[in-house]
Order: sequence, then C-alpha cells, then structure tokens
Amino acid sequence: MRYGIFSDVHSNIAALDSVLQAYASEQIDMFFCVGDIVGYGAEPEECLARLRGLPVIAIAGNHDRAVAGRIKTAAFTPDAREAVSWTADRLDLDSLEFLGGLRLVYSDTPLTLVHGTLNDPADFYYLSDASSAADTFALLQTQLCFVGHTHVAGVYSRDGDGRIAAEHAGSLTLREGARYIVNVGSVGQPRDHDPRAAYCVFDTVQNKVEIKRVAYDVESARRAIREAGLPGFLGDRLLEGR
Ligand code: ZN
Repeated sequence: MRYGIFSDVHSNIAALDSVLQAYASEQIDMFFCVGDIVGYGAEPEECLARLRGLPVIAIAGNHDRAVAGRIKTAAFTPDAREAVSWTADRLDLDSLEFLGGLRLVYSDTPLTLVHGTLNDPADFYYLSDASSAADTFALLQTQLCFVGHTHVAGVYSRDGDGRIAAEHAGSLTLREGARYIVNVGSVGQPRDHDPRAAYCVFDTVQNKVEIKRVAYDVESARRAIREAGLPGFLGDRLLEGR
C-alpha cells in the first residue's frame, strides 16, 4: 500500500490543492490527516470539503477541537484565538460536528496517528525532542507513529536496544525491529523557513517513508487572510515559512 499522510492544513486551500496535485502522481491508496485542518487561514470550508472528498482517516488537532468548542483557547496566541473564533463563526453545523467528532488517536497496524503526543493526547504537547519522543515510544503499539503540531518535519527512531535517534527527514528506509515517530510537517503553515507545503508518502512494500515539499501560491493564501480581516501576521509568516 501507498499511504499519503499530511498534517496542519490550517485552512490554506492553495497549499492543500498543490499537495493533492503532487499526490496525484504518487499512486496513493489511502490518505491520513494528522489534524489541524482549520485555524489560521481563510478557507476553512473549502479545505474541509476537499478533505472530505478523499479516502481519508483524519484525527483532531487542537485547532479543530477549539473551533468545535471542545477545548478552551486560553493557551492559544491572540492571533490563533482570533482565527479560531473567526473560523467557528463561518462554519456550518455539519462542519462543526465533523471537526468535533474527530478522534484524538487512530491506531491500526502498521501505523498510529496523534496530533501531539501519545501521552495525554487531549493536552496537545509538542513532540520536539528525544525526551518527548521517548514518552510516545513507550506507549506506541505499532511500528510507526505519525504526528504533526510543530509544523516542522522530523523523524525519531528507536532501535531494538531502546536507543532513540533523530533521523534525516527526507527519504527513510525503515529498519527491521526499529520503530519510528514521523512528524510530517505542515501543508498550510510550515515553520522551518521553507515556505513550501510539506507532505509524506509511506510505502509499505518498499518500507519507505518520504517527506516531500511542493511550492504553492503563497501570495494568494496571504491575500485571502488579509481580505478576510484575519491578523496580517498569519499571512505574512507564510511567505517565509515561519
Ligand atoms: Zn497546527
């Protein structure tokens, strides 16, 4: 099987469409979305419609839950909080129920999905160092765990001897007996100083995980954010991928 795994679309339809166009030449059997379909960007309904048209299993991110009214936004930045209420005001009941109904964790051999970490997934911690990776590895029941949330792609591995290492997040051939946590980066708001949209392909026959990038019309996403009256910084940051 070839799986297309992506995360953190954040209501950026130009980025999502470019990613789906790139996936069109990848012979994808099934998609997985690791959360934060909405929030920050100006096209939540468009992104939800596109996602729901795919053969996809999606899980909840913190923004999805906040827009659906299932978590408080006290821990959000002021810009993020403004985007959450802007988004909630624009979505219809069906979309809000869809977001509110997304589960926190999905797990079925050979993969698990969680937006933040497997420990307390409803608290949306960032998996951003070896120690947080160790906590998630301790709970992981499958060979691979795909995460998002940081908007920075990266891979941690744990070999049979328990040693945890950071791997190069490009093209990775899986080693027998090793487990992996793969942060697939962000479609709609990358924060690694590369403005291109990130997406992942997992081939279960070749035992290979690849994280790829595709350019999209960043300016149109930025313009849509400005025209919607959302905080300008949310558009400006897309230009630099920060
Ligand atoms: Zn996010």
